[in-house]
Amino acid sequence: MYVQPADLRLGNARRVLAALQRAWPCTRPELARRTGLSTMTVGKVAEQLLELGLLDEAPGEPVPGLGRPPRQLSPSARLRFVAIELGVHTSTVCRLGLAGEAVPPRRVSIAMPGSAAEFLASVGAARTALGPEPVEAVLISVPGVLDSGGPSIVYSPNLHWSEGSGLLRALGAAFGAPVCAVQEAQALALGHLAAGTAPEHFLMVDFGDGVGSSVVTSGKLLGGPLPLSGEIGHTPVPGNLRRCGCGAIGCIETLAGCAGLLASHREACGRDVTWADLQRSLAGGELPDWLLRTLDALAMVLAGALNLLGLREVVVVGAGAELSPRIVPQLRERLMAHSLLGRFGEIECRLAPARRQLGLLAAAVDRRLLPEPGRVAR
Ligand SMILES: [Zn+2]
Repeated sequence: MYVQPADLRLGNARRVLAALQRAWPCTRPELARRTGLSTMTVGKVAEQLLELGLLDEAPGEPVPGLGRPPRQLSPSARLRFVAIELGVHTSTVCRLGLAGEAVPPRRVSIAMPGSAAEFLASVGAARTALGPEPVEAVLISVPGVLDSGGPSIVYSPNLHWSEGSGLLRALGAAFGAPVCAVQEAQALALGHLAAGTAPEHFLMVDFGDGVGSSVVTSGKLLGGPLPLSGEIGHTPVPGNLRRCGCGAIGCIETLAGCAGLLASHREACGRDVTWADLQRSLAGGELPDWLLRTLDALAMVLAGALNLLGLREVVVVGAGAELSPRIVPQLRERLMAHSLLGRFGEIECRLAPARRQLGLLAAAVDRRLLPEPGRVAR
């Protein structure tokens, strides 16, 4: 836990750090241009962030005839975090600093077993590969319904054994550090915001193993009174009789999640294929009818969210969206067909890289490194 200088202007400090995390090294005058803050303010904030150990400083390259080179700032390279991205089939565990992953990466992939005990054993075995540096916090992206205050996994449709607070607590204990847990679709939205190219208002759609979403308005995550939010994948589609991991029948996720897409291909073509086979078979060609129907159903569900929230920008990430270059344009066309805005306006729907790690880092900065005064770091 840090003791923040009494006169630290939190908003400015977060702004300067975020601007540096986008690109570095960077001089103070350049940082002033990027953030819109005065050079004097940037200078003061930079000193405070250096004192807190959140920045590194080094001399720049000398330029002949221009005297002493300006000093360059970077986000601290110290690998202060362990990041765990929990996935339905594979999880990754890696060392992470404010400047991202170690170079070369210290990263371990874990094929998901069937119990928390087995997963914890695999994480324990991975510790040596992650290096000996002390861990300040364990950053975890979590599929399913997360109460980040506990933190506790309230309900996990595709990973029931992760439910409760026990797994998160044990992962923290494994590294002797507190846990900072973020719902995965929210981590994706935070990462998209942190990358600096996000629109101010958007619906983030994770079109991967499951179908998740999160909502950003005025540059911030929209939340409700319950920990549950963005669980759009569990909206039923009429006529869909597939049973979902959540216990219900007909959820869109059973059609549009990766396993659902493979199952639909099998039903249509009468044979099993791998994900790579499916991708190859779709490369460059027209989308098959079963996939067009799935995208239409997904667009109906998403259009409900756009109509309700008054959003026009949809950012899509995930393996499903990358299956063919025609998927996102097709999804946009069906969103135009099914949403009210499509009658008189335009809807943007674009593919983006999944930036979960960057989202986890953004959450760690807000909750642990530069928390609101008086707010308990968690
Ligand atoms: Zn469901």
